[in-house]
Amino acid sequence: MRDFLKFNDALLAKIGWRLINNPASLLGKILQGKYFPDGDFLTAGEASVMSHSWRGVLIGRDLLTKNIGWVIGNGHSISIWRDLWLNLSKQESPMGPPTEQSAGLMVSALVDANSGQWNIDLIQRLVPEYEEKILCLKPNVTGIPDKLIWLGTKSGDYTTKSGYFSTIDEDDGVAPTEVGFNWRKTVWNLDCAPKVKQFAWKVLKRALPVGERLIERHIDADPKCKRCGCSESITHLLFHCGFAQKVWLLAPLRTDMDFRGIIDLMAAWPSICNQTCLPPSGITSKALVPWIIWSLWKARNKFVFEGFSLSPEVTLSTAINLSREWSVNAKMELGRAPARWSQEISASSGATITRSDAAWVSSSNSTGLGWTLLTSPEIRSFQKRLDFVGSPLMAEGLALREATLTCRRLEMRSVRFESDSAHLIKCLKTEIEVAELHSIVSDILSIVAEFESVSFGWIPREKNMIADVLAKNAQLVFEPLVVEDGINAPN
Ligand SMILES: [Zn+2]
Repeated sequence: MRDFLKFNDALLAKIGWRLINNPASLLGKILQGKYFPDGDFLTAGEASVMSHSWRGVLIGRDLLTKNIGWVIGNGHSISIWRDLWLNLSKQESPMGPPTEQSAGLMVSALVDANSGQWNIDLIQRLVPEYEEKILCLKPNVTGIPDKLIWLGTKSGDYTTKSGYFSTIDEDDGVAPTEVGFNWRKTVWNLDCAPKVKQFAWKVLKRALPVGERLIERHIDADPKCKRCGCSESITHLLFHCGFAQKVWLLAPLRTDMDFRGIIDLMAAWPSICNQTCLPPSGITSKALVPWIIWSLWKARNKFVFEGFSLSPEVTLSTAINLSREWSVNAKMELGRAPARWSQEISASSGATITRSDAAWVSSSNSTGLGWTLLTSPEIRSFQKRLDFVGSPLMAEGLALREATLTCRRLEMRSVRFESDSAHLIKCLKTEIEVAELHSIVSDILSIVAEFESVSFGWIPREKNMIADVLAKNAQLVFEPLVVEDGINAPN
């Protein structure tokens, strides 16, 4: 019941999210006229007479306000002290108290109007303890407005699911073993399909609806394993149950790890997912284990919901086949890419082709940027070093933004921008949104809007060697200056 109410709140929050993002909608206008004529939905109070549905909207809004924050555009809408803008994953604003003169300042005051860069002197005077954090946020140079985002998703867009999870996190906190757990290495970089990685993540986050978890969440369900009658926990289902053990025993893994000993799954996970396959399985990818776990879950659901019991042999061979199929397809994708790439080049002959890359160092948050402009037959190359860059994706975005600025300065009319960051290219083709890149992507899109013809494309890393070397070298340069160099294009 409690979960149902939470889910309902998460649904109500969706309505609030629409009001924030689309205040001009018919519903937005009606509600505004009635309940918040001053135009600020987030601070609207309870009216003396209000409808049942408006009451619901306010409940949803309370959920939203616990987990929204600002991503910086021009900084005009964000108060330095009152608003939450320092962090894109949790709510954070500078600790005051502000001086009398600075109390009313907006974030835009911290940006130097001429250079579009942070005014470091002022930051050091007003909020010295946040200097590094602030410098990692990149102000926008083309003046797009600030944006209110939901901090529970990478895109910054509210989803009912993430709203629901945010209410659960409130109760549970973080599991102690999670501190220091390397999600990137042991989950997101696994050599398997994205859906399987996501599944592994769910398993580790204990977000699988197995019997024991449902009972813990006060949902009326049978807590027992349908195969053996033991309490159905995640570790039972995937490792301890007799059925799972048979599957693991058959699996062509190089070591005989005894999965029955697993108590703390998170602690054991790094060694579990490191298990490599024996040669005859024909699996070149290292990650068979996540596929087996996936397959065990599918088999469990088939048994529970369809009453159909797959044998351990079939369950395992399904995992092996899926894994094999996936790695073959992934390889074909890679093999095809260069052909597509060369076609696109010839199609856009006459255009300038820019390629950009970044070399990011996590220990120092510094990054080298490199970009080249090819206007046949000449290549010009550029490099720059930047400090306070928060992530490799951000670094790739900054490199491409530099390339667009150079093209604008050189008055290029027709340009193709290429990068080996598939993630960045997807953002630019506006297939996905990433809150962290809000400001950079808007800059890029608004700069290239001035050109006559523009395209963006992904290229494999091997095609991006020059920019790569430039970026790596720039890392070693001490001054954050642009270095320009003309070299002859290789044939
Ligand atoms: Zn069982």
